[in-house]
Amino acid sequence: MSAPVIQGWCPGALRPMMSGDGLVVRIRAHLGRLTRAQAMEIARLSRAFGNGLIDLSARANLQLRGVRVDSHPPLIEGLAALGLIDADAAREARRNIVLSPFWRENDATPRLARALETALAAPDAPALPSKFGFAVDCGPAPVLRDISTDIRLERDAQGDLLVIADGAPHGLRVSEAEAISAAIALARWFLASGGAPEGRGRMRKHLAKVSLPENFARHARNPDSLTPPLPGLHPQGALIGFAFGQMQAETLAALAHLGNLRITPWRMLLVEGATTLPDLPEIITRGDDPMLRVIACTGAPGCVQAHQPTRALARALAPLIRKQGLLHLSGCAKGCAHPDPAPLTLVATPEGFDLIRDGNAAAPPAITGLPPDPNDILKAL
Ligand code: SF4
Repeated sequence: MSAPVIQGWCPGALRPMMSGDGLVVRIRAHLGRLTRAQAMEIARLSRAFGNGLIDLSARANLQLRGVRVDSHPPLIEGLAALGLIDADAAREARRNIVLSPFWRENDATPRLARALETALAAPDAPALPSKFGFAVDCGPAPVLRDISTDIRLERDAQGDLLVIADGAPHGLRVSEAEAISAAIALARWFLASGGAPEGRGRMRKHLAKVSLPENFARHARNPDSLTPPLPGLHPQGALIGFAFGQMQAETLAALAHLGNLRITPWRMLLVEGATTLPDLPEIITRGDDPMLRVIACTGAPGCVQAHQPTRALARALAPLIRKQGLLHLSGCAKGCAHPDPAPLTLVATPEGFDLIRDGNAAAPPAITGLPPDPNDILKAL
């Protein structure tokens, strides 16, 4: 079986990635928020210049799929008119910030995220690898602990701000005024200490080899954190899920009619201020929906690396997975949709599917060559 191609970079709007169904154009919304007008216009642009399918990424971005090469320039023009395009591709790639979607306007979280955006857009900002990111998660208890990132801004148990290297149990205690320069200093240390040979690297992996500067290893992180939220009503609005984190442009437009939208890293949208759950086709509003028990990447034919289609099989298996269970179905061993281990992972091969227990898509399989038939696979589970 051929090894999957690791691109080592994430698509952007200015630097889209070619996939099996056309260009993937990723939109990084400021503060992870779209006004109603922005969301409605994005839905229109998706239909006009893409194939009308919109993905939510694990970095809290929107991805327009099926964009034709000749449609890319007018699409960028449309997104620029909405204030969603950076000055250049390098600045866009550096603006890799996920923030807790439960922020309020007078919280530290949006203030710090804005200041971090400004710092990363500076001409002398550190030239970080494209996958390197920041999590701004400064509510009373962190909620983004399950989200892949490299530098975290959180509060400790006393409510003080910490700047933390991902993977470290401690951080540097800072005032709000000091937080961004400390985060940038930590990013510079990562580069200077050899964290990104050949322009690639992640903080957690680096810390397995190199000790942090002593000042970043002083203050204990908050031992408590919030579990990732489920679809339903929350104090800030209605949290809406989508099968495989994908929706039609019409669904985005319909949700935008209800309020401004926040993009979460759990592949859900928060409709700001909604006090009732919308009644729309193809949305998930219940935490016990079986489709939340399966994760599947685009698969064939949408991804050129996929050995088999994935999503029809995942839909068929979803009601058969036990409650609290999780099945990850991956079109190849790259495991884009869920890089972490899952209790059950099915990886497509040219011969069928391999089953991995308690591992990620690259782990050794327990069973190989299962046919792509839900009944056969169910017997093996
Ligand atoms: S994991 Fe899925 S989306 Fe990622 S490269 Fe493989 S087939 Fe494509």
